Amino acid sequence: MPFSDRILMGPGPCNPYPEVMAAFARPVLGHLDPEFVALLDETNERLRRVFRTANQLTFPVSATGSAGMEASFVNVVRPGDDVVIGVNGVFGGRMCDVAARAGANVHRVDVEWGKAIDPQQLLDAHPSPRIIAVVHAETSTGVRNDVAELGANKGDALLLVDCVTSLGGIPLEIDEWGIDLAYSGTQKCLGVPPGLAPLTVSPRAIERIVETPQSWYLDLNMIKKYVTGEGARAYHHTAPISMVYALHAGLGVILEEGLEQSWARHAECGALLQEGLQNLGFELFAQEGHRLPELTTVVVPTDLPAGLDEAAVRRRLLERYGIEVGGGLGAYAGKVWRIGCMGHTARPRNVTLLLGALAEILQR
Ligand code: PLP
Repeated sequence: MPFSDRILMGPGPCNPYPEVMAAFARPVLGHLDPEFVALLDETNERLRRVFRTANQLTFPVSATGSAGMEASFVNVVRPGDDVVIGVNGVFGGRMCDVAARAGANVHRVDVEWGKAIDPQQLLDAHPSPRIIAVVHAETSTGVRNDVAELGANKGDALLLVDCVTSLGGIPLEIDEWGIDLAYSGTQKCLGVPPGLAPLTVSPRAIERIVETPQSWYLDLNMIKKYVTGEGARAYHHTAPISMVYALHAGLGVILEEGLEQSWARHAECGALLQEGLQNLGFELFAQEGHRLPELTTVVVPTDLPAGLDEAAVRRRLLERYGIEVGGGLGAYAGKVWRIGCMGHTARPRNVTLLLGALAEILQR
């Protein structure tokens, strides 16, 4: 199976939109070329529309989603700050690690994997934290954590949200929900290859940026000056020009389709997939009512055909049908499959193909 035929239904990356791949063929401009700067400005404006925010400090960090996470924490955490973090999967755990390395006093609220975090539990974890942080869409478990209630009751805290797997795929309202810092990744529901971390920072969070963050590369002090008007653009690092073209194109596809329509397409595919899997006798892993349409977790059946283990099923899907799905992480390695339906991949025909392939392999 040639890799041009792959259907990427793992936890990410998804198949990029064709317009995105065409954008990579655009001639490379200098990173300070006025035409490139104008395209970057337009990309930031498109990001504001997809994040649903008026935040002026909105731009793609030149690195993957994890750098967005790190940028969000290191710029506002001072040593000894109380930081409440919800953990119901791998990425909440990663947040704790990043915050602790920045010197935070982490108050970790652990919830069983597969279940959603009750916002009240986070609000009750500390009377006056500097930051409350949560993953909106936990890619390791397929669970959506509710965010709006946190924003409404955060008090003086900053609300920091991981939107890597939610941006463009499910409703997300940065300003309406009172989110102060949010980051994403390009490879999920934005339909762009991995490589950039869209980031948005509220004016309230800008005021709390520390003087010397524990990172040179991710220090927001320089770029915040362009927003506050205190400084002009100057060289910081050489922007990954072609990735910015790709993100610009991916956001263009989403805005042309309509953001709500993109959410609806992801919702439709997730529902078709989850219903289809249950009809085939599979058990879904994530808590009902909090299942992500863009990332479905399914319990690996105990009655696999003779000679096939879970890894062999995934290998056969890849080799025979060209379909990639993901395995479980951490304690759930070998116990669940993670099936993505994101970006350009979120099409009913891909769901039908996967269900058919699984039915053939598992003789159901
Ligand atoms: N947060 C979540 C929810 C993710 O799913 C991922 C990656 O899958 C990350 C953070 C880290 O992003 P990256 O792998 O692009 O560094």
